[in-house]
Amino acid sequence: MKLYEKTAHELHEMLTAKEISASELAKNLFERIDEKEPEIGAYLEITKNQALETAKLVDEKISRGEEIAPLEGIPCAIKDNICTKGVKTTCASKILENFVPPYDATVMQKLNSQNVVMLGKVNMDEFAMGGSTENSAYHVTKNPHNLERVPGGSSGGSAAAVAASEAIFTLGSDTGGSIRQPASYCGVVGFKPTYGRVSRYGLVAFASSLDQIGPLTKDVTDCATVLNAICGLDEMDSTSTSAAVPDFTKSLVNDVKNLKIGLPKEYFVSGMDKEVEDAVISATKIFEKLGAQIVEISLPHTEFAIATYYLIAPAEAATNLERYDGVSYGARVDGADVVEMMTNTRTEKFGAEVKRRIMIGNYALSAGYYDAYYLKALKVRTLIQKDFTDAFKNVDVVLAPTAPTAAFKIGEMANDPLKMYLQDVCTVPVNLAGIPAISIPCGFTKENLPIGLQLIGKPLDEETILRAAFTYEQSK
Ligand code: GLN
Repeated sequence: MKLYEKTAHELHEMLTAKEISASELAKNLFERIDEKEPEIGAYLEITKNQALETAKLVDEKISRGEEIAPLEGIPCAIKDNICTKGVKTTCASKILENFVPPYDATVMQKLNSQNVVMLGKVNMDEFAMGGSTENSAYHVTKNPHNLERVPGGSSGGSAAAVAASEAIFTLGSDTGGSIRQPASYCGVVGFKPTYGRVSRYGLVAFASSLDQIGPLTKDVTDCATVLNAICGLDEMDSTSTSAAVPDFTKSLVNDVKNLKIGLPKEYFVSGMDKEVEDAVISATKIFEKLGAQIVEISLPHTEFAIATYYLIAPAEAATNLERYDGVSYGARVDGADVVEMMTNTRTEKFGAEVKRRIMIGNYALSAGYYDAYYLKALKVRTLIQKDFTDAFKNVDVVLAPTAPTAAFKIGEMANDPLKMYLQDVCTVPVNLAGIPAISIPCGFTKENLPIGLQLIGKPLDEETILRAAFTYEQSK
């Protein structure tokens, strides 16, 4: 049976009804991984023994007649920048090649308390810097819809694993679009929660004021279920919010009547693929037919978002990555003295993109340039936030493309970092504003590449975008 094709909520029903066992399910996924992995390359590490042990535990629980949690026994995979106790966490970097965390990230503690079956750790751009997973120090992950194309990034392994049915759901991280953009390229659902909704404890830091963990799933129902499992206040993360966590599955309501959806004119930028634009516009027509009201809005500072993000994110990254000095963490390359040792370590073990970000970040933070670049970027960030605050006075949700194009070819942008950065135009404003957004599939290009639709919500209002996404999904 092709259990790997099913959603978490379908599998939960089957497990509860004792139609299948968790062990059978886990084995089915490993068979699928054996079949698909040679062509996709989504995984960095497979944790088979551990997975089968957990599955057995769940089966024992079921046979004792105990109730199981919604994700209990469900096979999942975790982005390799989320700390997993006793399991290597490399951030797809050579500098953390042999790093085995002595603790679990809070999200892992939460998932483990439900006995999820972790199949392994998945590939990403090194330290989550990139949008194609080509920056992994280990291997390129292929887009399951077209093996010549990238899966997107930086959570490319997370998205490809779900799209290729090599995991039922995955976790990714989103600093500037890294959950939503690969979800869009791979035709799956990806959610970036409000900043603070999900604890960052144990997420290897890239840009701390932007990073959020979130789910990649096959449908909106699974997305709500995983959000229920991972959200909530955590004393280990001082930026985690004390706002009450609703039951997100209650938002799975098929109704958008009278919902006011804003269409920001600045998001339909030049350089946007016509097929993407058409798909997004037809989605708005569907929303209209379902009773929503579409209004054009303006987010006037959108044009500065890329520049702002590519100053703030590298500045924070340069600071966060100082810890990889050959002493505290990870790899060491020897040298004649301590300075040479640090220089050798960082020169040899960081990839080109990571070095580029460290240099941009340190430049923007240096005494002579701080006011002109970093401080200016912080001010513009406030203006971008204000754009959304103003827009949300009139609309409930903002609808936009997730990315300006569908998945591009492997190697196509590898030598043009600036072109790659421009791909993030529709996603980075959301991180700068700290608000939630979901990417859901909304069609295919003529070449059969998935297109993603982004629904952006008010701070802490994950519920409305889940409802809108669910309603759209049901209309298909
Ligand atoms: N593509 C963006 C970057 O390279 C986003 C990365 C992310 O969200 N982790 O910074």
